[in-house]
Amino acid sequence: MSKVETYNRASLTKALETDSNWDVVIIGGGATGLGVALDSVTRGYKTLLLEMEDFAKGTSSRSTKLVHGGVRYLAQGNVDLVREALYERGLLLKNAAHLAKDQTFIIPNYSWWDGFFYTVGLKVYDFLAGKLSLGKSVHIGKKETLNRISTVKPGKLKGGVVYHDGQFDDSRLAVNVAQTCIEQGATVLNHFKVVNVTKDGSGNVNGVVAKDNETGKEYAINAKAIVNATGIFTDDILKMDNPTAKNLVRPSQGVHLVLDKSFLPGNDAIMIPKTDDGRVLFLVPWHDKVVVGTTDTLLDEHSLEPTALEEEIEFILRTANHYLTKDVSRNDVLSIFAGLRPLAAPKDDSEKTKEISRSHKIIVSDSKLVTITGGKWTTFRRMAQDTVDKVIELNLLPKKACKTADLPIHGSTQTSDWSNHLYIYGTDQAEIKKLIDSNPELGTQLHPQLPYLKAEVVWAVRYELARTVEDVLARRVRALFLNADAAIEMTPEVAEILKTELGQTEEWKQQQITDFIKIAKNYSLKHAS
Ligand SMILES: Cc1cc2nc3c(=O)[nH]c(=O)nc-3n(C[C@H](O)[C@H](O)[C@H](O)COP(=O)(O)OP(=O)(O)OC[C@H]3O[C@@H](n4cnc5c(N)ncnc54)[C@H](O)[C@@H]3O)c2cc1C
Repeated sequence: MSKVETYNRASLTKALETDSNWDVVIIGGGATGLGVALDSVTRGYKTLLLEMEDFAKGTSSRSTKLVHGGVRYLAQGNVDLVREALYERGLLLKNAAHLAKDQTFIIPNYSWWDGFFYTVGLKVYDFLAGKLSLGKSVHIGKKETLNRISTVKPGKLKGGVVYHDGQFDDSRLAVNVAQTCIEQGATVLNHFKVVNVTKDGSGNVNGVVAKDNETGKEYAINAKAIVNATGIFTDDILKMDNPTAKNLVRPSQGVHLVLDKSFLPGNDAIMIPKTDDGRVLFLVPWHDKVVVGTTDTLLDEHSLEPTALEEEIEFILRTANHYLTKDVSRNDVLSIFAGLRPLAAPKDDSEKTKEISRSHKIIVSDSKLVTITGGKWTTFRRMAQDTVDKVIELNLLPKKACKTADLPIHGSTQTSDWSNHLYIYGTDQAEIKKLIDSNPELGTQLHPQLPYLKAEVVWAVRYELARTVEDVLARRVRALFLNADAAIEMTPEVAEILKTELGQTEEWKQQQITDFIKIAKNYSLKHAS
C-alpha cells in the first residue's frame, strides 16, 4: 500500500465493510481513546477507533500543554498520582521526543518562607521522578530571577525556585498517535460518530452503530469489547447502553489566553502556585507565544465548543497584571480557548472542583461496556494500559502484554533546533521539505503573522487525516490557538487548497469558510466584544 493510501479515508473506511468481528472498538479520539487504540493494536488485537469530529477536537487540544507530574497534587499530598505522572512524563519525552520537551519553570517568591517551602517541595518532586528527572530544582536570588524573567514585577520579589517539567503540543501528539495506530494495523477514523451500542441475547455489549458524518452512511460493527473514551460525553454513551444510567461526570471549564511573546520573552515559564483565590496559574512559552491559564469553573452542560466566561477572562488578566510589568489588556489577547475536564460528578455542589480527584477511573457497566474517564494527557499511556488490562480481566480478550512503554510515536526523533517551526513534524520534516522542492509554491507562508506554509496544509490532508479547514487550522497547525484573527484571514486560501486536495466543489469550499469563521470568532476577543 502506498503512503497516501495508508492514511486515506476511503481505504480506511473500506475496512468497515470488509472486516467484521473486531476485537476492540474504541469510542472517542481524544488522548484517552487514542491511547487505548495504540495499546490495543500493539498487543495484537484487531482495533477500530471512531471519533465523531476530529482527533483532539474535545479537551485534548485545549490543555495547558504540560507534560507534568502536577506540583499542585504534590501540595495536596497525592504522592502516588505524582509519581505515576512523573514516570509517564519521562516516557513521553522519550517516545515523542519531537513534540515533548524539557521546560524550565520559575516560581517567583515574595517571602522567605515561600522560597524555602517550594525549594523543599520541588526537591521531593525531583526525587519522585527518580532516574527520569529532567533536572534539579534550585533556589535563585532576586537578581537572577529578574535576569531570567525580565517582565516580572521586582517590587517585593525575594527570589525564585527553578524546576523542570515537560511541555508539548497536544493536538499534534493526538494526530501522531493516530498515525502510529494506523501504522501498527489499527483502523482509526475521524468524522465518524457512534450513534448506538448493540447487545447480545445476554445483555452484553457486542458492537456499535456508527455514522460516517461525510456520507451519512451507517455501519453496524461487531466487537468483542467496547471502550467508551468520550471525555465529557461519557454519560451520553452510558445512556445509549442504559437509558437510566446515573451521570458520572460533570464538566469543569478551564480557560487559557494566548499572548505575544513580549510578555514573557525568555525561555522560562512562570508558575504561580497560589493566586488570590487559591488556584494555580501558568504562563508558558508555546510556539513563540505565551499561553496563560487556567481557570476551574463547574458547569452544568457540556459542549464541543465551550465559551470562556467574562469572569474567567477578567481573572486571568487581573492575575497576569499582578505579576507582570507589562500591562496586559483584552486587546493583547491573540486567542482564547476553553476546555472541559470530565470530573467525577461531585456529591454536592459545595464541593470545589479543584479538590476533586483528577486520577483516572475505569467503570465496567453491567453490559461489560468499559468506560475510562478522568486522568490527564501526561498519563494517557498508563490509562490505556489499565483499560486494556481491565478488558482482559473481564475475559473479553486473551491475555497479551502491554507494549507501549518503549514504543516511539510517529515522527519521534531527538530534536535540538526548536526554532524552526517545522520541528513539530519530527522525522516528517524532511518529507515536507521534499514537497516544497517538488513545488516551490508550497513554500509560501499563509499569513505574515504565523510561520505556517501551504505545504503543511497539503501534508495535513494527505498524511494526517485532515478533512476540514478547522481540522487543519485548529489541530494540524495551531493557527486558531495562536492567533485567531490571523487564522480567520487564512481561511479562504486554506479552503482552496483543501478543495483541490479532496476533489471538492466550490459550494463545499464556501461552506467550509463559513463554518470555520463562525467557530474561530469564538477564539477572538476582538470579534466577541
Ligand atoms: C483546561 C485544561 C487544561 C489541561 N491541561 C493539561 C496539561 O497541561 N497536561 C495534562 O497532562 N493534562 C491536562 N489536562 C487534561 C487533559 O487535557 C485531559 O485529561 C485529556 O485531554 C482528556 O482526553 P479525553 O480523550 O478523555 O477527552 P477528549 O479529548 O474530550 O476526547 C473525547 C472525544 O470523544 C469524542 N466523542 C464523543 N462522543 C462520541 C461519539 N458518540 N462517537 C465518536 N466520538 C465521540 C469527542 O468528539 C472527543 O474528541 C487539561 C484539561 C483541561 C480541561
